[in-house]
Amino acid sequence: MQNLTEIENLVKLISKLPGLGPKSAKRIVLKLINNRDELIKPMAKVLAEIYKNISRCKICGTLKPISTECSFNNCEILEKKYDKICVVENISDQWSIESSNIYKGYFHILGGTISSIGQRKEDLLINSLVERVNKDNIEEVILATSATVEGQTTAYYIKDSLKNSSVKITKLAQGLPVGGEIENLDDGTLFSAFKNRSNINSNSK
Ligand SMILES: [Zn+2]
Repeated sequence: MQNLTEIENLVKLISKLPGLGPKSAKRIVLKLINNRDELIKPMAKVLAEIYKNISRCKICGTLKPISTECSFNNCEILEKKYDKICVVENISDQWSIESSNIYKGYFHILGGTISSIGQRKEDLLINSLVERVNKDNIEEVILATSATVEGQTTAYYIKDSLKNSSVKITKLAQGLPVGGEIENLDDGTLFSAFKNRSNINSNSK
């Protein structure tokens, strides 16, 4: 490879994306270079727009326009009011559940799991979940964390954090394949996991 700093920098950046190593990063960079006007120009524009305008909500963790202020009573950018919150690890999980059309309600995106490497418990949006549940007239919290050790530890920790609330807490059905991450499940498996979710707290209404 020629010694062009800009190209090297781009290869390094693209190699950091999920599933891509230096080899595929180089292929992507070549594709971009060969399509300056069709790819590089619009992509640079869209990336700049996303950086400027979109961020994660500090309360519920969903993506929102930066200009939208979040507060506990008006956290979701939705007109409709719901009485359920579905708690997931990542935005990709939210997207899978949304596209399967099996759930209508709020989402709460933790931003990881308690024991993921490099994850600090205080960075996960658990305190704000408890606050949402208490302030937003929520009837049911659905824990849709992965069927991994980390996901289940996180679900248990959330259940414990909500022990002073009378909200009903449910967990997706055990039929989830062990190690199954929500974003990788097919719609059928997700559907039955939601339909057969079980109540896991005793102090529910
Ligand atoms: Zn929010």
